[in-house]
Amino acid sequence: MTYIQVIILKRAGEFDDPLTYSVPKELESECAVGKGVHVPLRNRTALGIITEIDVKLAKDISPDKVKPIKDITSFYLNEKQIELAKRIADYYRTSLTRSLRLMIPTQVWKGKLGEPEKICYQLTHRRRDSRISPSEVRGIKQKEIIELLTAQDETPESEINASKATIRSLIEKGIVEEIKKPIYTKPDYAQFPLKSFEHKLTGDQGENIEQILCSTKPVLLHGITGSGKTEIYLRVILEAIKQGKQAILLVPEIALTPQMIDYFKDYFGPHLALFHSKLSNGQRAAEWWKVHSGYAPLVIGSRSVIFAPAQNLGVVILDEEHEWTYKQESSPYYQTHHIGEMLSDLWGSQLILGSATPRLESMYKAKIGDYKYLHLPERINKQELPKVEIVDLRDEFKQKNFSIFSRNLQNKIKERLANKEQIILFVNQRGVARAVVCRDCGYTEECPHCEVSLKLHRGMGRKESALVCHYCGYARRPNLLCPECKSPHIKHVGVGTQRVEEEAGRLFPEARIIRADKDTTSTKEGFEPIYNAFKNGQYDILIGTQMVAKGLDFKSVSLIGIILADIGLHIPDFRSHERLFQLITQVSGRCGRGDSVGQVVLQTYQPDHFAIERAAEHDYQNFSENELKFREKLGYPPFSNLIKFTVVGSDLPKLRKHIKIEEETLEDIFKINNLKFKIVSAPAMIPKMANRYYYHVLIRAKKPHIIFDHWKPPKGWRVDVDPIHTT
Ligand code: ADP
Ligand code: ZN
Ligand code: ZN
Repeated sequence: MTYIQVIILKRAGEFDDPLTYSVPKELESECAVGKGVHVPLRNRTALGIITEIDVKLAKDISPDKVKPIKDITSFYLNEKQIELAKRIADYYRTSLTRSLRLMIPTQVWKGKLGEPEKICYQLTHRRRDSRISPSEVRGIKQKEIIELLTAQDETPESEINASKATIRSLIEKGIVEEIKKPIYTKPDYAQFPLKSFEHKLTGDQGENIEQILCSTKPVLLHGITGSGKTEIYLRVILEAIKQGKQAILLVPEIALTPQMIDYFKDYFGPHLALFHSKLSNGQRAAEWWKVHSGYAPLVIGSRSVIFAPAQNLGVVILDEEHEWTYKQESSPYYQTHHIGEMLSDLWGSQLILGSATPRLESMYKAKIGDYKYLHLPERINKQELPKVEIVDLRDEFKQKNFSIFSRNLQNKIKERLANKEQIILFVNQRGVARAVVCRDCGYTEECPHCEVSLKLHRGMGRKESALVCHYCGYARRPNLLCPECKSPHIKHVGVGTQRVEEEAGRLFPEARIIRADKDTTSTKEGFEPIYNAFKNGQYDILIGTQMVAKGLDFKSVSLIGIILADIGLHIPDFRSHERLFQLITQVSGRCGRGDSVGQVVLQTYQPDHFAIERAAEHDYQNFSENELKFREKLGYPPFSNLIKFTVVGSDLPKLRKHIKIEEETLEDIFKINNLKFKIVSAPAMIPKMANRYYYHVLIRAKKPHIIFDHWKPPKGWRVDVDPIHTT
């Protein structure tokens, strides 16, 4: 008897471990790892995936207790996908069920499992080698059908111009038969690209493409904004396709990259699989099958598309690889870069990470030789990068200008409006109103031990408000006067898009203003209508949050105002410098793409902060070197690795005690193994929700995974390996 292990695709959490089934003789030859199976489960039939075959029965299981599978579905995952799921479950400490479900869209496993098929007709005599007797065919319609089917085998239903009844009568006579054919089949990949290239490669592009194609390592493609990375992606993708392989192109958010999608559509026509949030369930399943069948040699989408079911993967590309959306923030908490590396290892496929401001983790890997580093230091057509001017908001305050627009920015906006040029005003909304800054001198409340900003916690119950460090737990009362300059104007800062819009409306009454933030883009259409209206010149000023920072290519934007750059620095996170540097660079990159040199006005209370200064100078090298030194000194990633646990409870003292006990166990594990480590527990950013308390336990060590060799997280502890947010 053959025994197999099956993962049930039902609710995760309920069936996390594989179940053992037997295989009836007649199904044995069809059994393979990755195939879908129907199995009996508690008097019902459930759908599962085979994860092991030819397993030995455990001693305590008697063979007659093991139930046989019912049948095997036509649906399957390939062995590489199964192996990937196992590696993810292992590294990210999740169940195989959860990681397998990453590979199969819900719509596919919830019943639409089957490959989409179309009904076709063909003549039976082609198969039986007999002739049609003329007396059997009646009327013109029937004759036409016979002629069509004689000329063209397997004609799809849609191409036959006759009623169902006419066809049915031919079927009943045994002349015609109905067959089902997959809608999506693999075309000849030699036909791509479907049109000739729009651009002739520049020398830089050509060289980089050669370097990529000969690389055996993942490639970090560091190209400044507007340096022509997209064209490089296109050519590398086509090289893989020429070899009969498939390509995955990932973007941070598909709604924000309409230009890029349109560009690729021209070269692939319908053979481009596209995943975006507006797809219906059925459409999503169809896109999945386009990749599965090979119909689509290229698939584009955000994060989860890294799991697209390629059958012969040639290349994976992460565009804007520094974006935080590449980390999944629910279980399994995977990092897309890491999955790309796993795929590279499994398929021998290429991995390309492209950005104008690479993640420091990626830069570090390039430095130590794990990645190949390639650089595009110039814009296409040698366009200059915009000039960034830093405006010191402390001066404005002293000059009694209490507006959120400095005089400098106001003047520049008026100039550009007079010239009929467009303006983007960027408002950073992350970490708003949680940091405490002195309006007079720019002093920021920081932890004396960790060099991250302290966060203002409103008091709970009778407690007073407090400033808390989320790295070491340090806490104290807020200062009433600035410790540097004794000013009473020390308070939490933050500016919202709405306020900027109101004030801009007052200062520039003649300007047509549009706002892009969570409120205005939460409709089904999302950002696109605003994007199009601004692009078509219906507005003069676009006010927006993070979403205006990414990938947009507007030729007529000549001025960008960054309303309050420091906000980014106040995220109590060791990545805040990096994040701010990236944001300033990305936002700046949105202007000066036309004929005139762009201008950026950056307003800040900390004009001499090194992240702000280096970003204004467009000096990534200097920034990354210094920031890496800082990380090394304090032992932050990439010089250590983090695992974050989230623990929830309704009884605070009990919760604290529970965490303390577990912490001690964890400390012991590191101590016994003679390893350096740091374990910190602190309340979460929102410490209390719906009467439940949220705590984080953050572990920092070179190889924190060692704990799992000796310890299992208690029930209810949520595990985030390599977290992107530490609070
Ligand atoms: P990046 O992704 O590096 O920011 P893009 O790919 O958006 O840069 O390219 C910037 C601009 O240069 C685009 O408008 C693109 O069409 C154009 N471009 C790219 N390659 C070439 C080329 N070889 N010749 C002319 N224009 C090009
Ligand atoms: Zn001060
Ligand atoms: Zn601290």
